[in-house]
Amino acid sequence: MDCQQAKYLLPGYIDRELDLVHSVEFEEHLEGCSACKSAHEQQQALQSAIGGASLSYRAPTELRKRIQSQLRRVDEPKMTWNRRLRSNSALATAAMLLVAATWAIGHNWAGNKSDGVIDQVVASHVRSLLVDHVADVASSDRHQVKPWFSGKLDYAPEFDDFASQGFPLSGGRLDYVNRRPVAAMVYGRRKHVINLFCWPATSERTAPIQLLDRQGYHLAHWVKSGLEFWAVSDLNTTELREFAELLQAAGTDSAAN
Ligand SMILES: [Zn+2]
Repeated sequence: MDCQQAKYLLPGYIDRELDLVHSVEFEEHLEGCSACKSAHEQQQALQSAIGGASLSYRAPTELRKRIQSQLRRVDEPKMTWNRRLRSNSALATAAMLLVAATWAIGHNWAGNKSDGVIDQVVASHVRSLLVDHVADVASSDRHQVKPWFSGKLDYAPEFDDFASQGFPLSGGRLDYVNRRPVAAMVYGRRKHVINLFCWPATSERTAPIQLLDRQGYHLAHWVKSGLEFWAVSDLNTTELREFAELLQAAGTDSAAN
């Protein structure tokens, strides 16, 4: 065996991949060749350094779970897609159908989501009037109503009393809308009751006042300072908008009020 062959066999020898005959020949060559012997020693030192060092870490359970759940999420639609492709030879048709279906599902879903919230807000308003449970804390003093919510919600609702403008605050209650506990503030306008709901918005983007009707009630919706607001009442839309504008214009820092 010459040095060229020994050099060629060295990695295999280190990894114990050589057969007995080649291993013996290699070792015989090392006995008489200091260059190959030192090359072998270097390789061996390197391998034991790598093998001994803790260069690999076991991922924390939490991280592994997170990655696995994300992989599942990515895998699921792909599997359906693959199955569709297999069962449908017309690739273009399948692709078009998928695009159309995705659009339809997304469109309906977005529509239903908003509709669901509107229905819940109206239902909550009606319920509060029917069961005579308008307020958990009956007070016209927002300095009493505001602290009542703290500890019951993970956010601070923003509201003021507008008695001098003809919309007196009469209290507040805890309600459950949009799959979360929310603050419901109750205002009066002559004989009409206005329920004002607010909860953290999904984005910081503000939204102007939008009026809509549902089941014979009027609603005003807007987003301000990271909070989403819904006002609902049987009050006419002109006055409901006036009420919404008062709230929207009120500063977040209105402790002097
Ligand atoms: Zn040699």
